[in-house]
Amino acid sequence: MQKRVISLLVLLVIPFTCNKQSKYNALTEDEHYILIEKGTEKRYSGKYDNFYEDGAYICKQCDSPLFLSNAKFNSKSGWPSFDEMIEGRVKIKDSTKVYSEITCVNCEGHLGHLKKGEKFTEKNKRYCVNSLALKFIPKAQKNANQ
Ligand SMILES: [Zn+2]
Repeated sequence: MQKRVISLLVLLVIPFTCNKQSKYNALTEDEHYILIEKGTEKRYSGKYDNFYEDGAYICKQCDSPLFLSNAKFNSKSGWPSFDEMIEGRVKIKDSTKVYSEITCVNCEGHLGHLKKGEKFTEKNKRYCVNSLALKFIPKAQKNANQ
């Protein structure tokens, strides 16, 4: 009887675990290098480095909203820079540090780093993010889906 309950539990748990993994988007080799292997794309190489359209940036791996275009600014660092995240969407590994890794709260994919104290904007924070970890959703398209 107990054995049967255990196999039933296994049958219920296995598909759930598999579904959990497959709900994420498939990544290219370069995206995998950033999001999973915690790599960094080449400076000035990312498609959102010099890009200032109105909309939202979502996680490439899980589509979770991360940043809004009104927080984006030109840091001339060679990577997309934001001075604020969408509240609670980005995990800061150690918020007491001046320089800390940032990941997606939802899928834990590596996004880049948070640097503090550079005085670029009033918030004095720079979320330095790899373009390869992001997908841009224009504002018009976002409204159309609502
Ligand atoms: Zn994610």
